[in-house]
Amino acid sequence: MTKAIIIGGGIIGLACAFYLRKQGMDVVLIDKGDSGAECSSGNMGWVCPSLSDPVPAPGLIKSSLKWMIKRDSPLYIKPAIVPSLSPWLMQFWKFCSEESYQRGYTAGLELSRKTLSLFDELEQEGCLEFEMHRKGLLFVFLDQRYIEEKLDNYSIVESYGLPAPAAKSKKEVMEMEPALSDAVAGGIYLPAERHVRPESLTKALKKWLISNGAEVLSHTEATGFIQEGDKISGVKTRKKTIEGDHFLVTAGAWAGLVLRQVGLHIPMTAGKGYSITISNPSIQFQQPLYLGDSRVTISPFHDSVRIGGTMELSGLNTDLDQRRIDSLKSSAAQYLRSSVRGDEQAWCGMRPMTPDGLPIIGKAPSLNNLFIASGHAMSGISMALSTGSVMSDLITKGMSDIDLTPFRLDRFSSKKTHKNQTITVNM
Ligand SMILES: Cc1cc2nc3c(=O)[nH]c(=O)nc-3n(C[C@H](O)[C@H](O)[C@H](O)COP(=O)(O)OP(=O)(O)OC[C@H]3O[C@@H](n4cnc5c(N)ncnc54)[C@H](O)[C@@H]3O)c2cc1C
Repeated sequence: MTKAIIIGGGIIGLACAFYLRKQGMDVVLIDKGDSGAECSSGNMGWVCPSLSDPVPAPGLIKSSLKWMIKRDSPLYIKPAIVPSLSPWLMQFWKFCSEESYQRGYTAGLELSRKTLSLFDELEQEGCLEFEMHRKGLLFVFLDQRYIEEKLDNYSIVESYGLPAPAAKSKKEVMEMEPALSDAVAGGIYLPAERHVRPESLTKALKKWLISNGAEVLSHTEATGFIQEGDKISGVKTRKKTIEGDHFLVTAGAWAGLVLRQVGLHIPMTAGKGYSITISNPSIQFQQPLYLGDSRVTISPFHDSVRIGGTMELSGLNTDLDQRRIDSLKSSAAQYLRSSVRGDEQAWCGMRPMTPDGLPIIGKAPSLNNLFIASGHAMSGISMALSTGSVMSDLITKGMSDIDLTPFRLDRFSSKKTHKNQTITVNM
C-alpha cells in the first residue's frame, strides 16, 4: 500500500490524515508533542466560510501602526522582533491593498465552498463524535458606522451559496443575546455559520485514525529528511527514520522550520492569539459573538464559555502575556451587562501566518513527493476539512477539484538552485 507520512498533528494534519486514510492510503502522522495540543486546541472553533477573507486588508496599515506598540491592542508587534520580521512585515503591508484582499477573499471562499457539507458528512461518520453548534454568528458593534461597512464587505458570500448577512437593530440584537449591554448599537447576523469545540474535533479525528489503522505518533519530532534526487525517501526523527512514498508538512507556525530541513524557505510567522475558557460560566450565551469594535470573540460551548482574540507578532513562542488576557476581559466587559464568572483557564496559541493571509497548499516546486498544507491563520478549523479533502485528492490522484494556484508555494517568488538542490523563496 502507498504510504503517506504527515508531519504535524494539528487540525490540518489530522484532517489530511483522515481523508488520505479514507482514500485507502497507509498513513503515519507524527507530532513533536501531542497531536491537537497546539494552536488547534484553545481557539474559538468557528466554522465560518463567510469569514474566509485574508488578514491583510485595506485600512489595516493605518490601524496597525496605531495599535502595534500598545500591548493591550488587537494587534501588537513586539519591538524586539521587528528587525528579523521586517521582510515578512513589508510583504504583509504590501498585501493590504483592496485588490489583494479581494483576490484572497475569493480564493478563501472557493476553498471553503464545501466546508459546511464536509462538516455534515463528518458528523455522520461512524465513531466520530464532536461538539458542533448550528447557531450562526452574531457580530455586534458599539459604533453603528461599522455595520454598513461590514455588510458591504460580506455581500460577496451570496455568490458562494451562503445566505447574505442580515443587519440587526439594537433591539433585535438585545433580543437575540440578552447578555449584551445597552452600549451595543446594533449588529449583523450570519445564519449559516457554525462553531465546534476544537478539542473535541481533534480528539475525535485522532480516535478515528487510530481505530482505522493509521499510526499516530506523539513526541516524534521531524529533525531532517532523506532526499534522493527529486524525491524524499524518509523523515528523520530522534529515534528512527520513517520511510514513505509521500510526505506532507502540516506543521502550522513551525512549517518554515521543518521545510528549511530540505532547503525550502517560506515566509511563515506566528500570530499569537489568546483565549480564556470559563467553566461553569455565570452567563449562558445564545450564540457566538464577534465584538466588532475590539475584535474580540465569544464562543459558548456545552459546559463553558471561551473569550478569545488578539494578534501578537513576537516570534515562535507560547509565552503568555497576562496583559493581553486582561485586555480580552476588559474588551468583553464593554459589551456585556455583567462580567462572566467561573473557573478560568488562560491559553495562547500560534496561528500560522503567511504575508498574504492565504495558506500554502500544494506540492513543493522541486520535490516530486513533498507536499505542504500550512498557514491557515485565523481559519484553520474552518478550512481544515476542505484542505484535507483537496490535499488527499492532490496526493492520491495528482489533481484537485478546486484551483490551487492562489495557494501555491511559489507565489512568494521562488527560485531553484539546481547545484545543491535547494530552493530559495525571496521574502
Ligand atoms: C485565539 C485564537 C482563536 C482562533 N479561532 C479560530 C476560529 O474560530 N476558527 C478557525 O477556523 N480558526 C481559528 N483560529 C486559528 C486556528 O486555531 C489555526 O489556524 C489552526 O489551529 C492551525 O492548525 P495547524 O494544524 O496548521 O497548526 P497547529 O495546531 O499548531 O499544529 C501544528 C502541529 O505541528 C507540530 N509540529 C511542529 N513542528 C514539528 C516537527 N518538527 N515535527 C513534528 N511535529 C511538528 C506541532 O507540535 C503542532 O501540533 C484561532 C487561533 C487563535 C490563536
